[in-house]
Amino acid sequence: MGHIVSMLDFAKRLHDQHRHFSITILLIKPLFDPSYNLYVESLAASDTQFRYIHLPPPPPPSEHQVLTSLDKFFYDFLESYKSQVRDAIVHHVLSSSPSTARLAGLVVDCICTTMIDVADEFAAPTYIFFTSSAAFLGLMLHLPIRHALIGTEFTISDPDSLTHFPSYANPVPTSVIPSAIFNKQGGYSTSLNHARRFRNTKGIIVNTFEEFESCAMKSLLVSPESPPVYAVGPLLDLSGDARSGSDRDKILKWLDEQPPSSVVFLCFGSLGCFDPPQLEEIAAALEKSGHRFLWSIRRSPPKGEFGLPTDCGGDYDGLLPEGFLKRTKNRGMVCGWAPQTAVLGHAAVGGFVSHCGWNSILESLWFGVPMVTWPMYAEQQINAFEMVVELDLAVELRLDYKCEFGGIGDKVELVAAEEIERAVRRVMDGENLVRERVREMRDKSRKAVMEGGSSFDSLRRLVEDMLGNH
Ligand code: UDP
Repeated sequence: MGHIVSMLDFAKRLHDQHRHFSITILLIKPLFDPSYNLYVESLAASDTQFRYIHLPPPPPPSEHQVLTSLDKFFYDFLESYKSQVRDAIVHHVLSSSPSTARLAGLVVDCICTTMIDVADEFAAPTYIFFTSSAAFLGLMLHLPIRHALIGTEFTISDPDSLTHFPSYANPVPTSVIPSAIFNKQGGYSTSLNHARRFRNTKGIIVNTFEEFESCAMKSLLVSPESPPVYAVGPLLDLSGDARSGSDRDKILKWLDEQPPSSVVFLCFGSLGCFDPPQLEEIAAALEKSGHRFLWSIRRSPPKGEFGLPTDCGGDYDGLLPEGFLKRTKNRGMVCGWAPQTAVLGHAAVGGFVSHCGWNSILESLWFGVPMVTWPMYAEQQINAFEMVVELDLAVELRLDYKCEFGGIGDKVELVAAEEIERAVRRVMDGENLVRERVREMRDKSRKAVMEGGSSFDSLRRLVEDMLGNH
């Protein structure tokens, strides 16, 4: 979901800058996320600007394939789509375009690097669409250099050991490097392959903005390994209507009744969920903190099984401490999928406890709501590290908490109520300097995408490059 939302906003902005581009969006039905299908179908039905082509769904993977290495599994899965992408380009793009039209390029999601081969067959340039930070892109681009020197994958024996990556000002502890990079069953080699392929493209489009990640952007601009990097963000779906969940009106009405900046919002992305013992600690923290709260909770899949969190449908029995909902009913609300952008944009919201997904980070900055870091899966730990250590733009709760989605991974740490309560109090403190810095970044993020802003100009340079492709 996080990939497609920003990619579509990018397509809109590209089209706004140059109306003569004809844009076709090739969609692969995901195996795991039904809300994605609803979102894409509603967009395709309402949007006449672009052509949407749904590629036929593949056979489902075995649980073993998914559990061994999700990244490797995705690589193989996408590889099996190559011929369908090739056919779609021939039948839906080239055959329906005027004879004078030419293929300006393929914009390829950062985990779909295998499609660079398809672009090559058409002698068309590829641009990578990188859905995370410029700093993490720098880490990825550094992997082949490190591999050439050291020749092995990362090992996790010492979580406190430090690695220098040019895109981070501070040395990066092993404990915040994404776990895929330690995976010897295909995760590391897949990351390395992607990074090698990034280097052979015409450019990399990143959902960030220069004023936010200036150190990382500088390092990319001087890096001989990197193709041109275009920071064109923040790319956000601010209406969020197509994926706002069934409780949207109830939630917004409740927020309307709360005083300004009084509510702490807790939400852990499309895949985040906790087991009952951790939910109890969070509940205790919220109760003790005395702050108003809006808390998005989803039920974990059964232990040991691969699956996605599911909506509780208003039934939190067995998940929350006895009497919690009753005791907090005048100052708290628990919900399932939250209309996150509408919530963050609401005047009542003063803080955000987040899993540090990249879209959530950009959304919190856009609305100037300071975050507490509670990373869970994918590259969220290193995002949390960047927000706290590199940029001083978030309140630290955890940088290295890990809870791989779908029940994959080791035993999960229990974060104690006292620590959560302390972090909530800090983020809600009106005097906290982080709040002021986040507010400044909000203004910068909005300027970046306006005419004359850094991301606007970067997109214009990208358009010029695309128009120059023959
Ligand atoms: N989101 C939402 N409601 C929820 C959970 C997530 O609207 O209850 C949206 C959120 O606004 C963001 C996206 O889903 O746009 C999650 O993307 P992110 O990169 O933050 O995390 P991911 O889900 O990819 O881990």
